[in-house]
Amino acid sequence: MDARAILDKLVSFKTVSNVSNLDLIDWVEDYLKGHGVIATRVYNEEGNKASLYANVGPDVAGGVVLSGHTDVVPVEGQAWDTDPFTVVEKDGKLFGRGTCDMKGFDALALAAVPLALERGVKRPLQIALSYDEEVGCLGAPPMIAEMRKHLPAASAVVVGEPSMMKAVSGHKGGYGWWIHVHGFEVHSSLLHTGVNAIMYGVKLIEWANQINDANIAATPSPIAAQFDPPFTTAHTGKIWGGTAHNITAKDCEFGIDFRLVPGDDIATYRDALFARVAEVEAAMQAVVPETRIEVTERFHVPPLQPENDGEAERLVRQLTGDNATHVVSYGTEAGQFQEKDYSAIICGPGDIAQAHQPNEFLEVSQFEAGQAFMAKLVDHLAE
Ligand SMILES: [Zn+2]
Repeated sequence: MDARAILDKLVSFKTVSNVSNLDLIDWVEDYLKGHGVIATRVYNEEGNKASLYANVGPDVAGGVVLSGHTDVVPVEGQAWDTDPFTVVEKDGKLFGRGTCDMKGFDALALAAVPLALERGVKRPLQIALSYDEEVGCLGAPPMIAEMRKHLPAASAVVVGEPSMMKAVSGHKGGYGWWIHVHGFEVHSSLLHTGVNAIMYGVKLIEWANQINDANIAATPSPIAAQFDPPFTTAHTGKIWGGTAHNITAKDCEFGIDFRLVPGDDIATYRDALFARVAEVEAAMQAVVPETRIEVTERFHVPPLQPENDGEAERLVRQLTGDNATHVVSYGTEAGQFQEKDYSAIICGPGDIAQAHQPNEFLEVSQFEAGQAFMAKLVDHLAE
């Protein structure tokens, strides 16, 4: 089976993040078994999704991890010209949900398995496929922890998010909290005796505005200066609350998410957020003691810090010939590998601009560049 046939197969599984990915995992496991490779699954708590990892080649240190996610974003409400779950080739492009983000890379990684075995690599190729990447990179951390325990140490991780096969050595982190303000309902004519959850909630949103104003005004660090925008941002994208115009709102819920530049410490923002929450809550409780503010962590994706002379960067530069410096503002699993002491970099086919879009596509030329990359990688591991 060549990379293109594998891509067709992978796209045919409707692995949108809100449903099981086990059909795809079953298929990949059988495919690997067909090449004599035993894969290991790491299930989620509900048991309806799994990530999968495997060591291909000798059981020695110094291999390279190829990391991809198996989930895709929904197609509902998008105007597609073709069936999103069938790869359609047209005008030098491969259309289909996930062709770009990122089943194209997954297919390249799986097609590299027989190449590595035939070539008799001296250091292993390691395959790592996660779930729930698109909903906050939830699936990778438990898989990475298992890989750390059971696989020989790898010298580099290539996360194949679409980067036009460029070596991307840094990205922002993402941290999200969900905030539920529990107020107290009274008729609004007596608002001084009630606690309006909306009106207290906006004090926290205004705090986020002040964080942004301060960060915009500050001078960026040299690492931050590479990003657009060159500072950490705080954002509320969704809010819900209240029942009627003449009732003080009993509930208000909203998110506050941070996109963190490498080098900024999330603990600083978290402590400041919680301090502000405590202040606002104290003011609410001075009016009605049983009111409160509940804060829940929604996701946590560490930034990818550009490494000093990192092994992954050196390898990908050598294989692609790309010697420029690239950073991106989207989060990936690369930061999670790096957090567990792997040297990690992003390099994958396709343009992030096509990810998540209707008529998502991967250019055939990018897919071919990916195949050339894999061939060189296998040569490198055979040296
Ligand atoms: Zn992705």
